[in-house]
Amino acid sequence: MASQEDIFKKVVSHCKEYGFIFQSSEIYDGLSAIYDYGQNGVELKNNIKNYWWKAMVQFNENIVGIDSAIFMHPKIWKASGHVDSFNDPMIDNKDSKKRYRADDLIENKIAQYENKGKTDKAKKLTDDLTKCLQESDLEGMYNLIVEHEIACPFSGTRNWTKVRQFNLMFGTQMGSDVEEAETIYLRPETAQGIFVNFLNVQKTGRMKIPFGIAQIGKAFRNEIIARQFIFRMREFEQMEMQFFVRPGEEMKWFEHWKNERLKWHLAMGLGESKYRFHVHEKLAHYANAAEDIQFEFPFGFKEMEGIHSRTNFDLNQHQQFSGKKLQYFDPELNQNYVPYVVETSVGLDRTFLAVMCASYKEEEIVNGDKTDVRVVLALPAFLAPVKVAILPLMKKDGLPEKARQIMDSLKQEYSCAYDEKDAIGKRYRRNDAIGTPFCITVDHQTLEDNTVTIRYRDSMQQERIPIDAIENIVREKLKVGVKEVKLVV
Ligand code: ATP
Repeated sequence: MASQEDIFKKVVSHCKEYGFIFQSSEIYDGLSAIYDYGQNGVELKNNIKNYWWKAMVQFNENIVGIDSAIFMHPKIWKASGHVDSFNDPMIDNKDSKKRYRADDLIENKIAQYENKGKTDKAKKLTDDLTKCLQESDLEGMYNLIVEHEIACPFSGTRNWTKVRQFNLMFGTQMGSDVEEAETIYLRPETAQGIFVNFLNVQKTGRMKIPFGIAQIGKAFRNEIIARQFIFRMREFEQMEMQFFVRPGEEMKWFEHWKNERLKWHLAMGLGESKYRFHVHEKLAHYANAAEDIQFEFPFGFKEMEGIHSRTNFDLNQHQQFSGKKLQYFDPELNQNYVPYVVETSVGLDRTFLAVMCASYKEEEIVNGDKTDVRVVLALPAFLAPVKVAILPLMKKDGLPEKARQIMDSLKQEYSCAYDEKDAIGKRYRRNDAIGTPFCITVDHQTLEDNTVTIRYRDSMQQERIPIDAIENIVREKLKVGVKEVKLVV
């Protein structure tokens, strides 16, 4: 059986081979941790975005969306705490010149202890690391690296620099006058664009608390180590929702959104056992509760979404730094207050990666005395880049024309692909590899009785159906059970 590492490598090369993801600037040897989405990738990504937008904005009367700018006033990042504390502890190996996140090196050591059954050592080191992180004790982290004889994976030496803080925000200059140019930042999260628009939306939308503002957009972080493909990128996309509530009610809403968000993930059908909650040991400066939804990637359980109770920290800070009131008048309480906020923040690219990893399958097919491997991307049907492939059996006798007619009627509703090249078996396989749930084959019988063959990707079963029935079958199978999902926490 292929190891998880092998499977991950296969997923990465499949993404490239079938036009899902390309390394950015590839012909110039690439740009580290930056990726481009190809012709199939962009469709899948848009479908995930739509699924999120529908579940958050369309299904909830009290949530509306915005699209705020990437550049914002530099004071915003001072107010939010990102200028002073959006840091990761970094350390360099003087021999290999490689840079690491100090906490990552220590966590790898903990995993090594665990793998060797040294649970006491692992526990002690976990406690020590947690203490250092809580107290931002850089020297303490350096001492742990020395004490536990952690070596650089490249040079194998322990010739380390001190641990330093590294700010993850990308800065650039705005304005043409060099002297007066101001440093502004590419946003490291989309949330602040929501906070600074809180009153604009509340007033113009006549929103009543509790209500939410949702946004999908790019975020940028100068990650020290960027690896595991699109799991950790320097330019990525977030789907965030800030839910504004009465002070004191935040824990109720925190539980509510934890459950709702888990349901959203489960409804994709990637497998219940692949998800778990992880409680944050170290709370960010703004939070009074925080949990992650983790997904089991081939490289282990890792964060996919954060659910944070952010108190009234952000709105308070923006009141203070802007000098403008950001309060809500609650008619039921007859009182003004700064609302509390519960945030749900999910990585679009990480969701994409989870979908790809869980869907990639290699199946052995026995055909007489021959065995063959079928690569199939068993994507949730509603997320597939192409929903229906229309395949005339031959390129003659009017079959292409008939196939085009079917395609024209279906493409108003569904993304379709027309393919007449190569043997039918090869065309089925090509569609399996990009996750197309339905293939429609048009043959000579179609011309006689208006029936076609529909082939289902997962079972490979084929059925003869009237052309008129295609749309109903496709519509039925593309339904997503957001509401039907049974909640398992
Ligand atoms: P991590 O601990 O993995 O660095 P984080 O806790 O800093 O993530 P948040 O600030 O909570 O992440 O961001 C919310 C979501 O944005 C994450 O759950 C993740 O899905 C996504 N995300 C964060 N950083 C990256 C990145 N560098 N590349 C891709 N997605 C990211």
